Amino acid sequence: MILSVRDLSVSFGDVRIVDGVSFGVQRGRTLGVVGESGSGKSVTALSLLGLHRRATVAGSIELDGEELVGAPAERLRRLRGSAVSMIFQDPLSSLHPFFTVGEQIAEAYRLHRRTSRRVARERAVEMLAEVGIPEPRRRAGEHPHRFSGGMRQRVMIAMALACEPGVLIADEPTTALDVTVQAQILDLIARIQRERGLAVVLITHDLGVVARMADDVLVMYGGRTVEHAPAREIFKRPLHPYTRALLDSVPGADPGRTRLRAIAGAPPSLLAPPPGCRFHPRCPAALDTCATTRPPLAGDPHRVACHLEGADH
Ligand code: SF4
Ligand code: MG
Repeated sequence: MILSVRDLSVSFGDVRIVDGVSFGVQRGRTLGVVGESGSGKSVTALSLLGLHRRATVAGSIELDGEELVGAPAERLRRLRGSAVSMIFQDPLSSLHPFFTVGEQIAEAYRLHRRTSRRVARERAVEMLAEVGIPEPRRRAGEHPHRFSGGMRQRVMIAMALACEPGVLIADEPTTALDVTVQAQILDLIARIQRERGLAVVLITHDLGVVARMADDVLVMYGGRTVEHAPAREIFKRPLHPYTRALLDSVPGADPGRTRLRAIAGAPPSLLAPPPGCRFHPRCPAALDTCATTRPPLAGDPHRVACHLEGADH
């Protein structure tokens, strides 16, 4: 495992946003992390890069054998961009409007590699070519506003991968893009992943994206893991009522755009989470014990946290 997370909890003050999440990702593999907004999936991703200054992080995050929880800020800063990189939904917010994309990729490169500006600029052109931007040398000299949404996401991928990290965290990387461009970006990530043996953590609420990309799937609800299994298992034999509800909420008539439709009821408040199984107020199958007793996460390799599955998993 290049990335191994054990019993990760992230709190802001008294509010625990992520509560005991564990997973691993191997080189060349993709873990899809799925859930509604507020499920803790983005916070989980950001904590992998040590980006939450005001958060209390407990548990273990091992990157290539190195413990990140409790590591000095300076060490985390060295690792971000060189060992683990992140791309987001909105590339424009991460790009500076006043500098050319070539300058920005070159600067990202020079944060971690001692090279001349000239060498770094060559690296930027090389990266733009690798992510499929036509006329990379000319386009390196242009500013971000000259690029379409899809092309900007390619620029972000070029920047994220310039220093050859082993792990890429992608938080809703295609959510803002239209279907065709979305497919192109996912294909690009998959190709680069193959070529480089990259481990990818893909955060999304889009099960279509998960079906296309993920080897394994982690389903989060109210800050906890409710189901974690190989992707084909999740789609063929979902065990948790919440996962089933997610799959049922996928509009079948439009398979290219399988966004989650709302599931009846609201996601739990993390200020005052429901006792027992956090899904019980919305669960069509809830038993009496669900309101009082937290179901353990059990099973291997198909892990599920549900009292209904206690006996045979
Ligand atoms: Fe539903 Fe109970 Fe299973 Fe929770 S533990 S998902 S409430 S059946
Ligand atoms: Mg999010």
